[in-house]
Amino acid sequence: MSHPHALPLMMLLPLLAVAGSPAPDDPSELEARIARYAPTELTGDLTSLSPGDREALEAVIDAARIMDKIYMHQMWSGNAAMLSSLCADPSPLGKARLRYYRINMGPFSRLDHGEAFLPGAPARAPEAANYYPPDMTKEEFERWAASLPETERAKATGFFHVVKRDGSGRLTAVPYSEEYREWLEPAAALLRTAAAKTSNPGLATYLSLRADAFLSNDYYASDVAWMEMDSPLDVTIGPYEVYMDELFNYKAAFEAYITIRNDAETKKLAFFSAKLQDVENNLPIARSYRNPALGAAAPIRVVDEVFIGGEARAGVQTAAFNLPNDERVVREKGSKRVMVKNVQQAKFEKVLRPIAERSLHPSQRDRIAFDPFFTHILAHELMHGLGPHSITVGGRSTTVRQEMKELSSAFEEAKADISGLWMLQHLIDRGELPRSMEEPLYITFLAGVFRSVRFGINEAHGRGMALQFNWLSDRGAFPYDAGTGTFRVDVARAKKAARALTGEIMTVQAKGDYAAAKKMLDTYAVIRPPMQRALDGLGGIPVDIAPRFPLGGE
Ligand code: ZN
Repeated sequence: MSHPHALPLMMLLPLLAVAGSPAPDDPSELEARIARYAPTELTGDLTSLSPGDREALEAVIDAARIMDKIYMHQMWSGNAAMLSSLCADPSPLGKARLRYYRINMGPFSRLDHGEAFLPGAPARAPEAANYYPPDMTKEEFERWAASLPETERAKATGFFHVVKRDGSGRLTAVPYSEEYREWLEPAAALLRTAAAKTSNPGLATYLSLRADAFLSNDYYASDVAWMEMDSPLDVTIGPYEVYMDELFNYKAAFEAYITIRNDAETKKLAFFSAKLQDVENNLPIARSYRNPALGAAAPIRVVDEVFIGGEARAGVQTAAFNLPNDERVVREKGSKRVMVKNVQQAKFEKVLRPIAERSLHPSQRDRIAFDPFFTHILAHELMHGLGPHSITVGGRSTTVRQEMKELSSAFEEAKADISGLWMLQHLIDRGELPRSMEEPLYITFLAGVFRSVRFGINEAHGRGMALQFNWLSDRGAFPYDAGTGTFRVDVARAKKAARALTGEIMTVQAKGDYAAAKKMLDTYAVIRPPMQRALDGLGGIPVDIAPRFPLGGE
């Protein structure tokens, strides 16, 4: 899954939509939409790659380009024809349309509820994408799937089969390997070429098994190989996320992340991982709620993107992902988290910095910095694994997730953020991290609040951020200056309040106290007038980045 830091496809983003006609014929209206994505060059340091890896890199970039073609076909059957007619239109309007089309990988504007911005496309992205017959209803699918023997039903509801009508109009499941063969065969050949060139055996195994999967439609062995791989050239390619299937979330869209492992950040992670039991032992909650023996944490890799393809290209850029999604692999092998550092850095420079310029008090603006920003994201990810998870309520064994029901995501995101702050403070106080990081840490955190809440408080991460902001504000952490309409950080109060809120949230989780969680969210996960004023002042600041990859010849 994409992490909430990277919003999934078609999420409603009312604050970020641009007013205007659904299919503008005025280039300047399109330019306003394009301006929400700041152009950004992304590349990585290739010095750790062997000569063989560099040759492999060229082949996997070519394979990633093929993912664009499959993905666009999966989105909408008219996509390829529309792209060629756009490419043939030299007018200023045609050029603006093509630029925005490439950002969205199709005619549907992701920041505007998936509405079409071009004539000749359906008014909005089809819910069924191109995975199911356009005239099929949900009920028809469900009746059909229920009538199938179990192995056939698994295909119908699985990740890797499209649903079509046969000659007599009956529904039938067709494997991706057959449906997309014209693209998967050349992609498999490129992966085999890369496997033969790379000097890393783990990567070679993944690439050859992935090539097999493209042709056999059995992805299991290659997903396992991806979990086990640890390579300077790190590749993720194939059908993964199911967001585009808005009917059922069953069908996986093709994408590719071609990345270089970031060894410096990977070392930093190893440093934090070694401290986790100490962090757990010092959580600001009752001793009985702490876990005296943490299990092995899920692996985390930090990488830099040098090329992407397919769904990864479309709209808001993914800055972290957690894969695979196949439950069988997750059960047997766990999952792996990948954090894309150069994407995080680009978002920091192009989005967070301008937000800080307008929402933070002038005396503190220049204290925000990328290092505490990224370190806090790492801490957030690690803290998801700490604190209460399996709990006992009234003698019954249960989980925090089950007890918190629909509140669990927002509450867990708030926990990871605030306890991430607390954890870094704990390590600063122990002398494990430099004291100089303290002030920038809290100031950068405050700027990040506005970035998250800007996406709305219906989504778990924004909702959790609003809760933290108001809770800490009420304890004097973020004094508001009505004259400038800006906020600043009172570091001493912020420190104290972050520790107290960490204890509060984790205690509610440990007790499985749904009513207490609901009361906290109802009270604090709101937008009060000063915050609204700050958000209103963010107009014109980009929402995200539009990457360009020099290593792919862009
Ligand atoms: Zn999270």
